[in-house]
Amino acid sequence: MTQDSSKELKKWFIQEKRSFPWRENPTPYAVWISEIMLQQTRASVVIDYFMRWMKLFPSIAEVAKASIEELFKAWEGLGYYSRVRNIQKAAIALQEKGGGLPSSLEELLQIPGIGPYTAGAIASFAFHQKAAAVDGNVSRVISRYYGLEGEVKRNLLEEKTFSFLEEEEPWVAMEALIELGATLCQKTPRCEECPLHLNCEAYLQGKTEVIPAKKKKQEFIYLHKQVIILIHEEEVLIEKKKEGQVLGGLVEFPSFPYPYEEESVRNHFSILAYWTEDLPQEKQSFTKYQVDLSPAIFHSLEKKDIDGYKWVKLDSLVSLTFSSGHKRVLQRLLEI
Ligand code: SF4
Repeated sequence: MTQDSSKELKKWFIQEKRSFPWRENPTPYAVWISEIMLQQTRASVVIDYFMRWMKLFPSIAEVAKASIEELFKAWEGLGYYSRVRNIQKAAIALQEKGGGLPSSLEELLQIPGIGPYTAGAIASFAFHQKAAAVDGNVSRVISRYYGLEGEVKRNLLEEKTFSFLEEEEPWVAMEALIELGATLCQKTPRCEECPLHLNCEAYLQGKTEVIPAKKKKQEFIYLHKQVIILIHEEEVLIEKKKEGQVLGGLVEFPSFPYPYEEESVRNHFSILAYWTEDLPQEKQSFTKYQVDLSPAIFHSLEKKDIDGYKWVKLDSLVSLTFSSGHKRVLQRLLEI
């Protein structure tokens, strides 16, 4: 039964699959980069990022040679910058060992930033092995197909996915499962159009609404920050987050718990400055934080070196990699 389903799914995939640049030539490097990017956002958004990245860094060697700022800039907007650091760490380590990605799951899992899903995807799509790559899409399809109710452990999902793949060209069925989850088998599935519906337990038992079981909502920590845009003539004070800090390596305007008054700005920076205007509030989310950013412009009558901060020409700010919320603040600043 499963083998029939797997065959039907492959047939459907060959006819219906969406065309993406990373599917045209799935080298191990292309699969690796695209899969990390696809963990961040929708495939349609990833296309431009992927094309630009491959043009700037066509090989692992180019990633190893690039500065982290160059890599951040190419990644800007995707978030989770620790993934870029891991890509570079991995690229440097791979270069030292000869350059290429290994083909075995065990070795792939040793590489910084490559978890079970990405390792499975590289082994399957690039090296054409029989390997399970279980992301959210596959987990939804497999849970429904096998009628797995309640909380399902990752190991079980991997086992079930592996047994779903037939021996002949298993990588095609693997990619097809991902495609099915991203298209027909979404939260509200389109079962009548689905190549698996004759054997899908959730569909046959009318349980597609309860499988997969809903996950507990992540609890966020809410913060409200005052963003200080301190300007002296044509220069603005910025802060580069230190390595090891949250958002390490990225650039932000100085920020403090809201509200932060003119006097606090003067005292903190030991500088003669006065408030001129507020900019609209922006939102920023990263890891478990949700932050309201309230930007305020202050003009400084003097320019001093301030430990941990740097003065940068206003027209050079766009070339820096700001965290997502502060990038929106920068856009507002440049509009006035
Ligand atoms: S039949 Fe419906 S629930 Fe089952 S895999 Fe297909 S789309 Fe998903």
